Amino acid sequence: MTTTGDSRFTSDVYASRVSRAAQLTADAGFDALVVGPGPDLRYLTGSRANTFERLTALVIPASGTPRIVVARLEVPSLKASAVGDLGIEVCDWVDGQDAYALALDGLGARPRLAVSDAMPALHVVPIAQRSSATPALATAVLRELRMIKDTSEIDALREAGAAIDRVHARMGEWLRVGRTEREVAADIADAIVSEGHTGAEFVIVGSGPNGADPHHEYSDRTITADDVVVIDIGGPVEPGYNSDSTRTYSFAEPSGEIADAYAALQSAQQQAVAAVRPGVTAESVDAAARDVLRGAGLAEKFIHRTGHGIGLSVHEEPYIVAGNDIELRSGMAFSVEPGVYFSGQWGARIEDIVVVTDDGCEALNTRPHGLTVL
Ligand code: ZN
Ligand code: ZN
Ligand code: ZN
Repeated sequence: MTTTGDSRFTSDVYASRVSRAAQLTADAGFDALVVGPGPDLRYLTGSRANTFERLTALVIPASGTPRIVVARLEVPSLKASAVGDLGIEVCDWVDGQDAYALALDGLGARPRLAVSDAMPALHVVPIAQRSSATPALATAVLRELRMIKDTSEIDALREAGAAIDRVHARMGEWLRVGRTEREVAADIADAIVSEGHTGAEFVIVGSGPNGADPHHEYSDRTITADDVVVIDIGGPVEPGYNSDSTRTYSFAEPSGEIADAYAALQSAQQQAVAAVRPGVTAESVDAAARDVLRGAGLAEKFIHRTGHGIGLSVHEEPYIVAGNDIELRSGMAFSVEPGVYFSGQWGARIEDIVVVTDDGCEALNTRPHGLTVL
C-alpha cells in the first residue's frame, strides 16, 4: 500500500473515492466522468499531475475499470503518485496517436460525459466533439463527495489553520511603518512556508486605501503610521489542504469612526459563525453577517459574499452567499469572512475557516479578532 506522503491518506482512501465517484456517475446518468489534472484528480487519486497540451485524463466509467490516459513521457511522474495502486488501468499514448479516442474507447458511439471543471478548452472541445451533447461539469457528480470532508481531511485543514495562525501571530516582526507592502508580503510568504505550508498560495497586504479593495494583492506603497492594514494569507499543507485567514492590523488605537465600523464587523463575523450548524442554509449564514452590518448602517460597505468552501481548492463549494439554499451538513468546511470597504480610505476583513460539527461548528483559526494594534 502506498501513500502520498501522509499516512492518513492511504491508497485505500483514494480507491474508495474512485468507486464512489463511479457510483455517482452512474446515478447521475452519465456514461463516464473525465477528470483532468487539478483538484478533482488530486481528490480521487492523490496525483499532482499538471495540465499540458498533451492529454492526461482519468476516465471513470459508470461501470467497468477506470483508466488513466497519459502521454508515455508523463507516466513516470504519474506513477510517483498513488495512481498505480488504485486498480486504475494506465493507458499510455505517444505523439501522433489520438488520445481523445483512447480516452473514450469502450464508452459507446456518443457517450454522455461529465468533465472536470479545471480541464482546459484545448481538451474539452475535442472530447465534446466525440460525445452525445455538451459535457456536464464534474461538479454535478463530485459536489457531494468533495463538500463533506472526512476526518483525515478535517485534520489536514486543522493543521493548515494552526499553521496560518502561527504566521499571523508573528505579524509584528514584518508589518512596520516605513516598509512597503511588497517587502512585508515577501517576509510573510517565507513565513507561510517556514510555519509548515508547502507554498504561499496568496498574500494580500492591503494598507490604507488598498485595504478597500478586497482582492488587492500588494504594491510598492509605503505603509504609514495611521494605516489600517488588511492581511489575508494562506497556502496548502500536505497533502494539499489549504489555509485562508484574514486579520486587520493598525499601529495605534483607531479613531471613533474606524473603531465603530470595526466593532460592527467583529460582531457580524461572530454572529455569522454562531449561525453555523447542520440544517441551516448557506445563505442564512450570509444573512447573519449582513444583518449586523445593515443594522450599523454599513450594508453598502460589505461588497462580497460571506464565504467559500475550502479544501484542496482555496475556493470551492459550498459558497456562503445569498441565493444558495443548500443545507449545511456536518463535515462541510468554509470561510466566514465579512468585510467593510471605504473606497479610497481604508478597509477591514475578519476571516476564519470553520467546519460544521453535529451541533454547531469548530473554528480552525483562533487568533484574536480585534483590530490588532502592533
Ligand atoms: Zn477571495
Ligand atoms: Zn482569505
Ligand atoms: Zn477566503
